[in-house]
Amino acid sequence: MRLDKFLTECGLGSRTEVKKIIKKGIRINGKIVKNGKFQLDEFNSEVEVDNKRVEYKKYRYYILNKPQGVITATEDAREKTVMDILPTDVIKKNLIPVGRLDKDTEGLLLLTNNGELAHNVLSPKKHVKKKYFVKCEKEVNLADIKLLENGVDIGNYITKPAKVELLNEKEINLEISEGKFHQIKRMLKAVDNEVIYLKRVEFGELKLKDFNLGLGEVVEVSEKDIIGKD
Ligand code: URA
Repeated sequence: MRLDKFLTECGLGSRTEVKKIIKKGIRINGKIVKNGKFQLDEFNSEVEVDNKRVEYKKYRYYILNKPQGVITATEDAREKTVMDILPTDVIKKNLIPVGRLDKDTEGLLLLTNNGELAHNVLSPKKHVKKKYFVKCEKEVNLADIKLLENGVDIGNYITKPAKVELLNEKEINLEISEGKFHQIKRMLKAVDNEVIYLKRVEFGELKLKDFNLGLGEVVEVSEKDIIGKD
């Protein structure tokens, strides 16, 4: 692969930015290279920029512990987006959020530049599980739990089977395997209740508690962490 392509795919910047970096010299297997057309073995070469090792990764995956007050979008003229709060070391090129959380919802949001993986995990056919911690305005009784688990009418749509874990009178964990617009809020409304706080705690194989992230913090994960295979 050409050195300039390698560095752009590693997320070091645009083509022009990468050109400038190359001009200063890149150490490849111990030798300084200043030519963007230089061919390297992207998987086996030792590449250093500013004395820091650069590893080739075509795809990147990040977990953000989304705080309230930011919208799940790549850009917006008026509102702050999840992209705006990412730290500078996150490689934002072609990064997209996988699914969406409401502005007032916190928790696990996966971001990747792998459009195919994003499409796959969002496909209704894959039934990827999402678990939410829900604080409700009123008590959740056993009849409500049964209804939520079996399916409720959220307006021209009956939700698919779900799992409820009662944590205390007004707090539940609700696990669903679909992702309709405002689904959790609409499900609670269907049992005459209201969500007052919502946090996604699990998404497929990913569990927020495994990553020890404060609100607004990000960690890079591997594809294996997401699809759960060795
Ligand atoms: N369900 C909701 O109502 N809101 C979210 O942000 C996610 C699921």
